[in-house]
Amino acid sequence: QLEKVGFIGLGNMGYHMASNLIRAGHIVTVHDINYDAMKKFSEKGISSKKTPFEVAEASDVVITMLPSASNVLDVYTGQNGLLHGGSCLRPWLFIDSSTIDPQTSRKLSMSVSSCVLKEQKGYANTPVMLDAPVSGGVPGAEARTLTFMVGGLEEAYIAAKPLFLSMGKNTIYCGGTGNGAAAKICNNLAMAISMIGVSEALALGQSLGIAASTLTAIFNSSSARCWSSDSYNPVPGVMEGVPSSRNYDGGFSSKLMAKDLALAMASAKEIGMNCPLGSAAHEIYTELCKQGYESKDFSCVFRHLYAGKNE
Ligand code: NAD
Repeated sequence: QLEKVGFIGLGNMGYHMASNLIRAGHIVTVHDINYDAMKKFSEKGISSKKTPFEVAEASDVVITMLPSASNVLDVYTGQNGLLHGGSCLRPWLFIDSSTIDPQTSRKLSMSVSSCVLKEQKGYANTPVMLDAPVSGGVPGAEARTLTFMVGGLEEAYIAAKPLFLSMGKNTIYCGGTGNGAAAKICNNLAMAISMIGVSEALALGQSLGIAASTLTAIFNSSSARCWSSDSYNPVPGVMEGVPSSRNYDGGFSSKLMAKDLALAMASAKEIGMNCPLGSAAHEIYTELCKQGYESKDFSCVFRHLYAGKNE
């Protein structure tokens, strides 16, 4: 039922995800507004289409991996978009793996389910949408070790699980539509705050005369231990193989972190919740981007904000 897979958004993440689907034996059709991104596939004989609608016409399931909610809306509801057929669609499943706000995911899911299927397929006569953002970054996309956080109808999640496992190693069902998107922005909210907290404490410790490696060893065997201290330490030289040890290159950019924090803050605002630390973290990452560090890994908050050293 999910033999023919459409994939839209062939950037840093999508290129590897689509390639892994092809490696796993799926019949993949691709589209991107960037001709060069599509060419990498068409040169290998992979079918590429000029519009999202043409991808939909060729697919049982369509996966999108796009920068932001406006791009996702464009691809779904724009001119020649996935839902261009209006009421009569060929794919029975739509999966959006972009990091966007849960409100947009819920709205789009309603638009999808207000359509009917061209041919009776799957278990329902209306198409279904899952929000399935990922964690694991570009290395995880390449190595097929992504984690998918999935919101939407559970039956659709179960049907799509083999597809997720062709692109990653973990899938977590989060509940109804929009819950995958909510899980992703909450995870990144906590990650940003913990990275800033660890950076601030390590910078203060250094200024008070304690070596960052000593303080890290204390954190890691004490109550300050967390992923930002024991797996992704922000101080150059404390850990090998992390962005802080290669001039903060690669990894997860400050620009994407600022975007995800903006999504979390917009969602909080919409439900009237006050998030003082999230709001401070959003300001900090926005400032880092303004200072020109938008493509540096988000752990650069240590050096550029707290340690105050020049690049
Ligand atoms: P990217 O900018 O590298 O790729 C996005 C691709 O979408 C580009 O090739 C672009 O040309 C294409 N695109 C944009 N608008 C389009 C449209 N209207 N129609 C067709 N194609 C269009 O982004 P990325 O790093 O691959 O990230 C994609 C999503 O995954 C984002 O939402 C991001 O937040 C999320 N994400 C990224 C990472 C990471 O480490 N890069 C990790 C987890 C999640």
